[in-house]
Amino acid sequence: MDAQQEVEQLHRELNEYNYQYYVLDAPTISDYEYDHRLRRLEELEAVHPELITPDSPTQRVGGEAVSAFQPVKHRVPLESLQDVFSFDELAEFIQRIQASVRQAEYMVEPKVDGLSMALEYRDGVFVRGATRGDGRAGEDVTENLRTIKSIPLKLPDPVSVIVRGEVFMPRTVFAALNEEREQNGKTLFANPRNAAAGSMRQQDPKVAAARKLDMVMFNIQWVEGHVFLTHMETLEWLRRMHFRVIPHTPAKTVEDTVAAIMDIGEHRTRYAYDIDGAVVKLNSLADRARLGSTAKFPRWAVAYKYPPEQKQTLLTDIVVQVGRTGVLTPKAVLEPVHLAGTTVTSASLHNQDYITEKDICVGDTVLVQKAGEIIPEVVSVVREKRPAEVKPYHLPHVCPVCGAPVVRDEDGAAVRCTGAECPAQLLRNLTHFASRNAMDIDGLGPAVVEGLVDAELIKTPGDLYHLDVQSVAQLDRMGQKSAKNLIDAIERSKQNDLSRLLFAFGIRQVGQKAAKLLAGQFKTLDALMDATEEELTAVPDIGAITAKSLVSWLHSPQSVHLISVLKDAGVNMREENGPVGGRLRGKTFVLTGTLSRFSRAEAGARIEALGGKVSGSVSKKTSYVVAGEEAGSKLDKANALGIPVLDEEKFISMLSE
Ligand code: AMP
Repeated sequence: MDAQQEVEQLHRELNEYNYQYYVLDAPTISDYEYDHRLRRLEELEAVHPELITPDSPTQRVGGEAVSAFQPVKHRVPLESLQDVFSFDELAEFIQRIQASVRQAEYMVEPKVDGLSMALEYRDGVFVRGATRGDGRAGEDVTENLRTIKSIPLKLPDPVSVIVRGEVFMPRTVFAALNEEREQNGKTLFANPRNAAAGSMRQQDPKVAAARKLDMVMFNIQWVEGHVFLTHMETLEWLRRMHFRVIPHTPAKTVEDTVAAIMDIGEHRTRYAYDIDGAVVKLNSLADRARLGSTAKFPRWAVAYKYPPEQKQTLLTDIVVQVGRTGVLTPKAVLEPVHLAGTTVTSASLHNQDYITEKDICVGDTVLVQKAGEIIPEVVSVVREKRPAEVKPYHLPHVCPVCGAPVVRDEDGAAVRCTGAECPAQLLRNLTHFASRNAMDIDGLGPAVVEGLVDAELIKTPGDLYHLDVQSVAQLDRMGQKSAKNLIDAIERSKQNDLSRLLFAFGIRQVGQKAAKLLAGQFKTLDALMDATEEELTAVPDIGAITAKSLVSWLHSPQSVHLISVLKDAGVNMREENGPVGGRLRGKTFVLTGTLSRFSRAEAGARIEALGGKVSGSVSKKTSYVVAGEEAGSKLDKANALGIPVLDEEKFISMLSE
């Protein structure tokens, strides 16, 4: 078999396995075997790039990022649906149809709360996908759609067709994504639909790919060479073409229709997606064509909207959880209540702002519902039921796990524990401490850190320096040799410059760059610990927020403890590297008078940052005197000694040269 034949065969096989796995939920080969063949295909394509086709399974991982989505005019408009909010309105719709269509039959489908898309296939190959936009024209999101595994890149038949469906984020994926965002102090997506929309708008398909979107089809917009009589037939055909197809229930009367709608509503958790209603559509395509559309909606379909299920319950307590990144999350403890299929006992209150905005107090009766059908949320307080005495709630000022002070993110609502040794953040702190740009301890990745913590060999970064080969070698998959290597790497890390150590502490706002600037300026950790916020902000590029965060961290009892443990272990706390730049090395400056744009301390720091020195008195060794307004005797002395004098303008241009 030549390369071309093998590539084609792999395309066929892998697309088929993909379909079995993602659409049918019935894989016939193991993941291992699948990955193996995918790897083989990647190898062949690397050698023969001319054999890569758009329908190759390797093309799902996401191609180049785009700078803007191109407009696409829809061949057939993507229409909206008329909403109905009661069964009476539904009955009216059915009577209207019955008046002109004899023996009408309907299909009832869940209304997927996702993003409407049109997918175009030419001769069976997926060529383009577009958002609905205003219904007449949307945006080309082909590359992001390609990453959705349940979308066939190639159909079993070489047909040209445009299919319409809904892209959604499975609820389980949504829950995991939001949890991760909450941990990272990022704003949460309100529901799976918003999360899916955010993902489809990603200009880098790799990001979209990571969001694990899915798609379900419910319509043929246009097809070449096929004639269908009913909607049901089109759905069956779509299924044969390997699409995931919307579930559909036939109905003939108002009663049937209502029963089907109720069934969908009551069992909404069986769908992987959120629904925001049920769609009732006429089955006969000829009758649909006859009825046509109004300016906005087709006359042959309506969307029934379910009222969201909400219940009242008692909020008995608010507890605080500390996540892996130190974010404090308040959580409402609720009297158990049955809601949309499950018993709800708690709900995240996200942050202090959320609690304040909704005026939530312990002891209140609250109205709860499920966001995105799955995550319980407190909608509002039932004020009439508020007991005579309640206390407004405030997040604690110290971490409930370790007692260290908490700080609020400057750019968000999250409040974090600053504890250097907080058990809740241990894994993350240790992994960061050992990472490449921090203490650079080779062999101390997340898995080993976890092993060490689980075996209770370490509780704080300081404990690393008391490990011995014997105990480390006991860990799973470790062995004598790797244990020895690890201990050696830990030993070597003691020699690191202060800037690495400072970054390794994982202090909020103190990134690699700030750590370098600060270490370069203050040289020793002791000097840094003595520095005031004012002295810290005098360092160029160190702002007030960073200074504040650093001072509060350095002085918390946990940090003081950690630093003394590290010091005793022999960890270096000095910076040997000179300050960055060094353009003014060897030059001595004397400052006199008042500068308009700097304080003396700031001007001095700028000079030192460039390697220069600042002296208090003028002598023959002085290189420059910087003279501001109302300069005094130092200026006279400079003139007498013939030392160059800089006014503020000249000084600034020297700094920025
Ligand atoms: P509207 O939100 O009022 O514009 O309602 C129309 C939307 O419902 C369209 O964007 C469709 O993509 C979407 N939709 C979701 N599920 C279905 C379905 N089963 N049949 C028809 N449209 C649906």
